[in-house]
Amino acid sequence: MSQTRRDGLEEEKMALTCEICGRPVSTESRVMIDGAVLRVCLNCAGKGTKLGSPPPKPIPFRIGPPPQATITAPELELDPDYNTIVKQARERMGLTQEALGRAINEKPSVISHVESRKLKPDPILASKLMHHLKIKLLVPSDELGSSG
Ligand SMILES: [Zn+2]
Repeated sequence: MSQTRRDGLEEEKMALTCEICGRPVSTESRVMIDGAVLRVCLNCAGKGTKLGSPPPKPIPFRIGPPPQATITAPELELDPDYNTIVKQARERMGLTQEALGRAINEKPSVISHVESRKLKPDPILASKLMHHLKIKLLVPSDELGSSG
């Protein structure tokens, strides 16, 4: 299927004439007379209300595509020794499981289970523990290596 596009562009060389006096206009002036916009010559421009050039439209200042807000975070995994890390950090701070639980708004049994590896802390719990105990429980997955 081929579509030949017809060049329908016909340049009409219309001699602009003043809509008031009918004389050819070299420099178009637009005036408003009785609510109608007329294209007139400079001589007749004074007979109506001169229309200023329309205010330029604000051009949105955009160059290129909008910035991407996606940040690719590295894949983090729970440290396999999370229970030891939590326990040691807690003991270092002189906290009981109960005190730590209260501090991060968790039940003491949660702390107990984490320290005995019965419970794997979810990302929220892990981040709370990390923040409070100033430890690092999440490590980039490639840092763990594959020894299995
Ligand atoms: Zn005129």
